[in-house]
Amino acid sequence: MASKPKSFRLRGTPTSQQREREYDRERDQRPGRQWYKTYRWQCERAEFLALPENQFCRRCEQAGLLNAGHLTMHGDMQSNPRRMHLVVDHIKRHHGNERLFWDWSNWQPLCPDHHDIVKQAEERAASPHR
Ligand SMILES: [Zn+2]
Repeated sequence: MASKPKSFRLRGTPTSQQREREYDRERDQRPGRQWYKTYRWQCERAEFLALPENQFCRRCEQAGLLNAGHLTMHGDMQSNPRRMHLVVDHIKRHHGNERLFWDWSNWQPLCPDHHDIVKQAEERAASPHR
């Protein structure tokens, strides 16, 4: 089998796609990661996002902006088609706690921008040496 070409790190700020991949990779190492791959998660996530009260990013809403995921957190049109959707965020980190993971009262819809902010804060909290 041919060996994969060596990848190198780009300088500067990562693109949102790189950040997403980075996050997926990081998330894949967290306790509870297996639940994101379940049929149950796919179903419940879709059901949750279909509720009338979950049509807009919770944080944008608090700032007076109705964002169904099609806008950036500043209210501009989102240009990245991969980021035009709401994300189900765990308000309290579940840390592999099954009850917290599946508890809808611990879920909130966020736009990708706000989800990034939450993730970055979590990552900072998780690795204080960075
Ligand atoms: Zn938002």
